[in-house]
Amino acid sequence: MTGQQIPGVQGVGGADRRFKEALAAGRFDIQRCRSCGSHFFYPRVICPHCGGSEIEWVAASGRATVHSTTTVRRKAEQGGDYNVCIVELDEGPRMMSRVDGTPSDDVRIGMRVSASVAGAGDGAFVVFHVDGRDAQQEGAR
Ligand SMILES: [Zn+2]
Repeated sequence: MTGQQIPGVQGVGGADRRFKEALAAGRFDIQRCRSCGSHFFYPRVICPHCGGSEIEWVAASGRATVHSTTTVRRKAEQGGDYNVCIVELDEGPRMMSRVDGTPSDDVRIGMRVSASVAGAGDGAFVVFHVDGRDAQQEGAR
């Protein structure tokens, strides 16, 4: 019979929902594999490192380093330029996000950033802010 369960189809939706529910509550959670201890993001049902399916949710440290950054140009009347970046979380995974609170052109690869949850409810999302911005600027000039 065709009773064999296909892993991941419904599960990924569930994992994604779990992530969004945490965000809606103001928490940035990521997954960790109980078998090999790897953290990963985006939400999955199978560990991308070892294939394990024993996965738990843990609070992300929120500490990260800018891995790549780009400025999306937008007219001032549309809200002005904004940042799109990939950050590498201290736990290891990379995620696409943006850096707020710093002009996008000043965001540099290697900058240390911290996560916060912006928005609310279904519209909640993770953004990053540059750590110790004054010190960073002094060092860069
Ligand atoms: Zn694993």
